[in-house]
Amino acid sequence: MAEKKERLSFRQAAAYTRRGLSIWWEAAPEVLVSGWVREGVDALFPYLPLYFTAQLVNAISGGGDVWIMLAALLASTAVVAVVRAAVHCWDETMRRAHQWPAWNRIFFDKLLSMDFCDIDDPKNQALRTQIDQLRNWGGFGLNRVYRVSAEAIGALCRVLGAAALSVSLFILPVRPDSALVWLNHPLCLLGMAVLMLLSVFLSARFANWAESYWDQYDGTQGNRNFSFFYFIAMRERHRSADIRAYAQDRYFEAGGRANMGGDDSFGPTSTVAKAYRGRAGAFAAASGAVSQVFVGAVYLFAGLKALGGAFGVGSVTQYVGALAGLSKGLSDLLELVGVLRANAEFLKPTYEFLDIPNKMYQGSLTTEKRADRKYEIEFRNVGFQYPGTEAWALRHVSMKFDVGERLAVVGENGSGKTTFIKLLCRLYDPAEGEILLNGIDIRKYRYDDYLALFSVVFQDFKLLSQPLGQNVAAAEDYDRARAEECLVKAGFGARLAELPKGLDTCLYREFEDDGVEVSGGEAQKIALARVLYQDAPFIVLDEPTAALDPEAEAEMYSKFNDIVEDKTAVYISHRLSSCRFCDEIAVFDHGKVVQQGVHDTLVETEGKYRALWEAQAQYYKKERERQNDLEWM
Ligand code: ADP
Repeated sequence: MAEKKERLSFRQAAAYTRRGLSIWWEAAPEVLVSGWVREGVDALFPYLPLYFTAQLVNAISGGGDVWIMLAALLASTAVVAVVRAAVHCWDETMRRAHQWPAWNRIFFDKLLSMDFCDIDDPKNQALRTQIDQLRNWGGFGLNRVYRVSAEAIGALCRVLGAAALSVSLFILPVRPDSALVWLNHPLCLLGMAVLMLLSVFLSARFANWAESYWDQYDGTQGNRNFSFFYFIAMRERHRSADIRAYAQDRYFEAGGRANMGGDDSFGPTSTVAKAYRGRAGAFAAASGAVSQVFVGAVYLFAGLKALGGAFGVGSVTQYVGALAGLSKGLSDLLELVGVLRANAEFLKPTYEFLDIPNKMYQGSLTTEKRADRKYEIEFRNVGFQYPGTEAWALRHVSMKFDVGERLAVVGENGSGKTTFIKLLCRLYDPAEGEILLNGIDIRKYRYDDYLALFSVVFQDFKLLSQPLGQNVAAAEDYDRARAEECLVKAGFGARLAELPKGLDTCLYREFEDDGVEVSGGEAQKIALARVLYQDAPFIVLDEPTAALDPEAEAEMYSKFNDIVEDKTAVYISHRLSSCRFCDEIAVFDHGKVVQQGVHDTLVETEGKYRALWEAQAQYYKKERERQNDLEWM
């Protein structure tokens, strides 16, 4: 059980809820309106048959027009049934059509508009997960705001309808000659009113106590564990071998309990289940019992007044039904105040996430769309620390490169190569120094304009389970000839020729039985074709050949100059042999550029490049000897 939280005041909770409602109103007003109408109709309409039932019984017992009342009862019952069915159908349609898309839009729009560094921040990822967990686990958060508003409208309608139907119970007097004439005394009326308020208050209080066991209990970690294992891990084919080999199901089951302090989250021994077998269950039962005691009292009061001749016996059912509705409506309203306060706590992560500010400066200059693609990039004394870290991932980096050049970025793991690319593509801004495009700080350009200058194959790029051609063009309608040409240039030509459906072949088999499973190396070639199709002036390739075997790599590099044409290419590579053809090689070490030059010069010079070169040459030499030995055997 999580430690007891500081609760928000009612005003704060109401403000949180108001904000939630305005978010829904903006995203999907139709869902709000249909929910309100449904709850209103559900609350008000049952009073109609209740009224006519009473009139019918009165007519039977008092000699009124039974047939008219019977017809009215049947007609009202039919109208109520039809209207309710129509409203339910409309509400269901609205919810299915708009609720989830709106929910997703609220969060996806935020994710898409956020600064990249904030998406990358594990704190924000955890926040996003927490929002989903709270929704999945107890329906808390934004969805609950919309339900609370609809239920409040329902409760209000129930109260108003009941008041209208029960007012005559208090006004109509018992006959003066009756022995029950004391029921006309104002104290009797006051007594009934007090009893009702007491029942409303107690019933709501007990229900809120029962509900408070939920908001004092944090089930998100258990839910996270459960969701990861069953919804992600078990559904991903590439994990199934590991799950079996390492019995990860047992690990997760045990981990789930450990995360919950030994709690099994959903099972019969969970904290919530135990609470409902104990005090929470007792409070929930007491809430229902109090309401029933009140209904009994109303039966007594209305029955006695009917005996005293205040109204017909049929009206007793009307008053009992109406007052039970009144008390339920009022206690629902009180309960909703409790729910609203509990839910406001769970809205905190939602607002914290939606309020993450965009800190990156967004300039307004447009990048010149130069036909000659004459661009020059300069890093001027650039330094960068990842958020929340002290160490400099890059420091004092200065370099210049012109369009059409091939720049290789080499260095050991952790030396800052990927960080350099992230800064170049403005996923992050430097903490020190500046990066210039044609002499102007890149922050001054429009962000989308600047990004459009780059086509990047990130190390962990992803292809879609969609047709090959659409993957290359990143669009449904595309230039087929160009897509094919790019695939051929990227070295995928021979494989393409083997595919019976060519560009229309679906990648992977999630959606199509005849989809193809491409290897890591083939996927890299497709990703490269995607870059070529985009035709941006800068191509950035982060370890573009890591998944290729040495032969395929040699083949690809021999063609690189032709593939890249007049574009500027920046490669990150582990294998120094791949960089020989580059115009410029920047050697990174501990976040600094320690050497710059061409391969032939660098390899002759004492320094980091030569050390790396010799270490790799040793490896290749050993590998070749091993191959020779194997062949000889
Ligand atoms: P390389 O690409 O050369 O392997 P990186 O640029 O990825 O190196 O990393 C440079 C340094 O920055 C390393 O010390 C690494 O641990 C650190 N680093 C990389 N990414 C992050 C991150 N998201 N948060 C904190 N530190 C990071």
